[in-house]
Amino acid sequence: MTQSVPLFSAQAVNAGIDLMAPVARVIDSHWYILGRETAGFESEFAEYLQIGHCIGVANGTDALELALRALDVMQGDEVVICANAGFYANTALRLIGARAQYVDIDPATLTMSVDGLRVALESCRPKAVVVTHLYGQMADIEALTQIANAAGVPVIEDCAQSHGARRNGQQAGTVGTIGTFSFYPTKNLGALGDGGAIVCGDEALAQRVRQLRQYGWATKYHVAADGGCNSRLDEIQAAILRAKLPHLDAWNSQRRSIAQRYNQAFANLPVCCPVSTGDDYVAHLYVLRMKNRDAFRQFLGAHGIATDIHYPVPDHRQAVVENEHGQWELPHTESACTEVVTLPCFPGLPDADVARVIEAVTRYFSQD
Ligand SMILES: *Cc1c(COP(=O)(O)O)cnc(C)c1O
Repeated sequence: MTQSVPLFSAQAVNAGIDLMAPVARVIDSHWYILGRETAGFESEFAEYLQIGHCIGVANGTDALELALRALDVMQGDEVVICANAGFYANTALRLIGARAQYVDIDPATLTMSVDGLRVALESCRPKAVVVTHLYGQMADIEALTQIANAAGVPVIEDCAQSHGARRNGQQAGTVGTIGTFSFYPTKNLGALGDGGAIVCGDEALAQRVRQLRQYGWATKYHVAADGGCNSRLDEIQAAILRAKLPHLDAWNSQRRSIAQRYNQAFANLPVCCPVSTGDDYVAHLYVLRMKNRDAFRQFLGAHGIATDIHYPVPDHRQAVVENEHGQWELPHTESACTEVVTLPCFPGLPDADVARVIEAVTRYFSQD
């Protein structure tokens, strides 16, 4: 029996990177929290993104929560989000006690609909908008930001799946008011554990985030910002990220070229492929849409190919928000949740495995 094709392999992604040296450097320094490595990564990532400020935090969900708090989102406030990711923005909102105001997705990109936001802002006064660049596909962030800013509403870009994506030359995370990142091991830039970051151009906003990530301290033991917590990127993870950052663009190109091979091979099949394989898509997840995905998944599984569903349940239908089920009309969100299927796509995925995936998918659709 041949080896199966996994959805992701940390071993394949990290192959050839010396992970021992950065860890040893931290151990030899005997300094583990908020030291030279975190400061170094923060400035290198800011430089990579071409933005003024980067603040390392403990994970991508904390990054969302701290970004919301830095923008003064409080209990009872409304925040506009989409409902088709893994409940990430909602988790942050619920920690604060803020309320989700859902906007439907654009059926082509599966990211926030520009018209949907325009209409929503005619009837609600949210404290912020969270735009998620889902699967590594950038939303129409210029238009969304323009509409939100015209209504006086700041924009948070959730870039946990879109490290290094660019639209019209601008990096994901640098167009809105503030950007958030996760460095969870499977992300396009992944640590060896949890990690996250917040980026922004505004000095005062960056200052607030720096305070909030460490008890609200302005200086040691002097609390200036309410709503602070402990959420720091540690030195070992920062050192690992510094070793991996120089490879991000090459890894994204590899992901993109796998997506291009798939798109070409599946062009005449009864499926919907990702709309872009250009700079605005870093192929964090290669997601097809189709009818009867269960039979498809079963067929691929029987051929040793892993698949997954990102994501099966829209936020407003999750058990914890049960009382909201009937309240929203999000037809594109609902149909995407029943049609999406994720195929293996990651740096280091051998060409032969890409060919095996293509072969199995093609064979599935050539059955009677
Ligand atoms: C992974 C992810 C998060 C959460 O990041 P964690 O580091 O796991 O907390 C947030 N938003 C999106 C879109 C993600 O993919």
